This record gives sequence, structure tokens and C-alpha cells, in this order.
Amino acid sequence: MTRYKSVIFDVDSTLSGIEGIDWLAALRGPEMQAWSASLTERAMKGELPIEAVYEERMNAVRPSAREIEALGQEYVARIAPGAKKALAELRKKGVALVMVSGGLREAIIPLAREVGVSEAELHAVSVYFDKDGEYAGFESTSPMTRQEGKRITVGKMGLSTPTLAVGDGMTDSEMKSVVTNFAAFTGFTRRQPVIEQADFVVETFEQLTDLILR
Ligand SMILES: [Mg+2]
Repeated sequence: MTRYKSVIFDVDSTLSGIEGIDWLAALRGPEMQAWSASLTERAMKGELPIEAVYEERMNAVRPSAREIEALGQEYVARIAPGAKKALAELRKKGVALVMVSGGLREAIIPLAREVGVSEAELHAVSVYFDKDGEYAGFESTSPMTRQEGKRITVGKMGLSTPTLAVGDGMTDSEMKSVVTNFAAFTGFTRRQPVIEQADFVVETFEQLTDLILR
């Protein structure tokens, strides 16, 4: 018996130590990086709704197919210590694993593969390219581009209960009303408003595994 039957993971600054859109913005120079990072931070603290900044950032950064591929490699290279082992162990015990992210789906697929999560269990925002691999927009209709997107999407999944959501941002703690418990993950960042919402605070994937399996 495990304490939770399903676990929902955030990606950026949880399963991997980067913020994907900020990483892409950094390719455009330090000014764009600082601008993007400050928007991310304010959104993750709950000071700005995600939807207010999503389109603005994507229109400014306009990532190419090649850059999304490079970001995919970065997500894998910066995987959280112990995450691969933890997810393998949880799966072995029969825990259902889901990834939900406001990040770009095509960049996250390699990380999902690395931790053994299928594409059907990965919920994120698609990015589009033209025939030359240049940026051609993003899935602006995805609920994941909105503040309440994770809550709405996870609420409809019909996951086996009890459920645990794990993440570092306000869009993660928003899932509280549709999951059994929420754990703030502080291995990469510590956000006080998120910690205040959390039932548990975990800093490592070893702690998380203990919490789920105990
Ligand atoms: Mg995050």
C-alpha cells in the first residue's frame, strides 16, 4: 500500500532545475533574460496571472525548432537529483505518474521519456513551427497557459485517489482544491507564498519518495 495512488508533477524548477522559457529568453541576451525571469518569478509568486505574461514572452522570444530541441536536452541534463530513480520506484509500486506544465510540450517530451512518463501523461503547451523550423506560434487555447489551468486539467483527469501534487509555484498550489494533498518542492527555489499553501515541504526526491511510500 502506498500513501498516494497518483502523483502530479510540475516540471520547471521541480523535475528539472530550469525555467524553460527563461532559458530560451537567455538565448536573446541578458536583457531579455532578466525581463523574462522577473515575469516568471512574479507569476510563480502569484503577483501576476500567467496568462498576462505568456503571450508577451512567447512573442518576444519566438523560439525556433532547433532551440526547442536544445532546450529539451537542457531539461534532461538538469534533471533534479534522484528524480529518475524516484519515479522508477513509484511506478514499480503502482503509483500513477502525471506531468503538468505551463512550459513547452515539445521541449519537455525528452525529459518525460527520461523519467518514463508517456506523452499521454504529459500535459503542457504545444509550440508550432513553419516549414523552415522558425517559430509559428503556440497553443494559446491550452488551459495550461492560464493561472487555473493545472487545477482544471487535473480536476478532469479522474486520477486514482489519494492524489498528491508536487511543485514550486502558485499554479501548482492552485491544484490543492482538486487533489488530496499538495507538496511544495524546494530543491531549486523556495517561494514563501507557495510554502504557506503546502501540506508538506520537500527538498529532495528522496524525501518525496518517503512521503509517498510511507
Ligand atoms: Mg515550476
